[in-house]
Amino acid sequence: MKCLGIESTAHTFSVGIIDDKGNILFDEKSVYKPPLGQGIHPREAAQFHTENSINLVKNALKTVKIDDIDVISFSMGPGLPNCLQIGATVARFLSVKYNKPIVGVSHCVSHIEIGKLMTDCKDPVVVYCSGGNTQIIAYVGGKYRIFGETEDIPIGNAFDVLARELGLEMPGGPKIEELAKNGQWVDLPYVVKGMDLSFTGIVTQCKRLHDQKVKKDDIAYSFQETVFSMLTEVTERALAHTNKEEVLLVGGVAASHRLQEMMKVMCSGREAKSYSVPDKYAGDNGTMIAWNGILAFKAGQKMKVEDTTFIKDWRTDEVDITWLK
Ligand code: AMP
Ligand code: MG
Repeated sequence: MKCLGIESTAHTFSVGIIDDKGNILFDEKSVYKPPLGQGIHPREAAQFHTENSINLVKNALKTVKIDDIDVISFSMGPGLPNCLQIGATVARFLSVKYNKPIVGVSHCVSHIEIGKLMTDCKDPVVVYCSGGNTQIIAYVGGKYRIFGETEDIPIGNAFDVLARELGLEMPGGPKIEELAKNGQWVDLPYVVKGMDLSFTGIVTQCKRLHDQKVKKDDIAYSFQETVFSMLTEVTERALAHTNKEEVLLVGGVAASHRLQEMMKVMCSGREAKSYSVPDKYAGDNGTMIAWNGILAFKAGQKMKVEDTTFIKDWRTDEVDITWLK
C-alpha cells in the first residue's frame, strides 16, 4: 500500500510518498523564506505554495504512477489557514480527479509517528519542538496527551525572533547554535511554570543585552543553554510521571546537537534512552504526512471529500489515535 502525503501548514510545501513497510519512494519540498528581518506572511506563504505545488505534485507522479497510489493524505492542522487551504485543495483535487480515498491527518501527530518509524523507540515521551509548536507528549489511553507546553511562543519561533534581533538569517536555530559554540554564560531568566514553559521574557532580556552591546556569541550560548535546560527539566518530570523509558525528539529544533546532548545526559541518569528523528525528517515534510496517512487508512479511517476542510487549532490531544488502540 502506498500513500501520497501533502504538507502545507506554514513555510513548507512538501509532497512525500511512502509504502506501508516504511519505504520512502518520493520526498521533495519547497520552503518559503520571508525577507530578512520579517516573519512568515501567511498570504505570501500561501501564494508561494500555490506556485510550487504543481511542480512538486508533477515530480511525485513522475516517480510513482498515480495508479500505484492507494490513498491521499494531507496535513489538516494545526497551522496557518491560508497555507492549510492550499494543501487541502491540492489533496482534494487529486482525490476527486483520480478517484482515490482521502484522509486528513494531524501535523503534530505526523511529526511523532515519523520519529517512531525512523528510530527504534516504541513508546516514548515525545519532545515536539518546532517553529510552530512546543509540547512534551506521551501516549496514554488512546490519545497523545500533552504533559507540558509553551504558554506563549514556540521554542523554534523564539530562536527565530532572537536571530532576527541579532541580524542573522532564517532559520535562526542553526545560526544561534553556531554562535553559541564560542559563547560565555550571562544570566537570563529561567521560566518553567509547573510543566509549562514560557520563552518571550527570555527573548526580551536577550534583546536588552544586545542593546547593551553584550557579545552575540554570549547571548546565543546563554539563550540556548537556558531554553534547552527548561525543556529537559520538564521532559524528565514527564518520564518520571509516566514511567516510560524512552525520549524522542521531533520537530525542526530536534536537529540541535546541544539539545540532543542534554537529553542524552538526562536519560543516562535515569537508565532511559534518548532518540532523535534524523535531521532530514525533523523539519516539516510530506513523508510524515504520508506515513500518518498509511497508519490512519490501515486503521479504517477515511473521509468524505466534503469533510476535508482544515482545523487551524487542532490540538495533539484531540486527535483520535485509531492505529494504536
Ligand atoms: P519546523 O517548524 O519543524 O519546520 O522547524 C523549524 C524550526 O526549527 C525553526 O524555528 C528553526 O530555527 C528551528 N531549528 C532548526 N535547527 C535548529 C537548531 N540547530 N537549533 C535550534 N533550532 C533549530
Ligand atoms: Mg512542524
